[in-house]
Amino acid sequence: KDEFITRLGHDLKSPLTPLVSLLPSIRKQEQDPKLQELLDVTISDVSYMKNLVVKTLQLARFSSSSLAFNPSEIDLRIKFDATIKRKQLYLTKGNLEVRNLVEEEISVEADSLSMDELIDNLMTNAIKYTPDGGTITLDATQKKDMVTVSIKDSGIGMTADQLQHIFDQFYKADSSRHELDSSGLGLAISKRIVDKHGGQLWAESEGLDKGSTFYFTVKAANKAVTKEDTTKAQMEKTE
Ligand code: ADP
Repeated sequence: KDEFITRLGHDLKSPLTPLVSLLPSIRKQEQDPKLQELLDVTISDVSYMKNLVVKTLQLARFSSSSLAFNPSEIDLRIKFDATIKRKQLYLTKGNLEVRNLVEEEISVEADSLSMDELIDNLMTNAIKYTPDGGTITLDATQKKDMVTVSIKDSGIGMTADQLQHIFDQFYKADSSRHELDSSGLGLAISKRIVDKHGGQLWAESEGLDKGSTFYFTVKAANKAVTKEDTTKAQMEKTE
């Protein structure tokens, strides 16, 4: 099935790519308001289709048992900083504040491109589902040889029922969230990436409008002693 999806996906993607790049310049030159409106709808539809095809291809790739990973040591703080830089336009547009609280010593052992995809998916959602002026907080704690990463937003949050389904393929929590750039596949892909790394991915929210926090665990690259470990060790010593 994955092979079939991959073939179909590539065949669908090929004619969409020139359309995505050509249509905006045709729209720019068009003077007729009626045609402009028609072109706007076409541009949205085409980019939705392209996004859906790209995400479906990713899902098939990360579901494949033959997928080979290239684990390397990744400095998490630097990885987050790079993602923030890539997303700067959207962050500025939404007047969102991002705090990267990850300590410098924390590094993980993972496939770098997959980590990019995972962090990108979670950050994209945090941006998409947080109203203007909100805050996104990135953090990580290390316990022995595992690191727990958290991406917390002050956004629209989720109900307990919605939380149960968000990792299902094509699930979108409610119709108000059915934007055109939404495929309902981002979290299903993210889950597969974390699974393939032997970690766990979950989400918490206290309810609608109360924000959401996504957590994932991943193998630490070294047994560096972090602030938390140090405090714990000191507490144990005093007891
Ligand atoms: P989508 O492309 O729709 O964002 P995802 O698989 O990434 O697909 O997410 C599934 C659904 O989970 C979303 O449609 C949204 O309703 C909900 N969701 C994901 N991240 C968040 C978040 N940070 N805050 C609130 N809801 C979220």
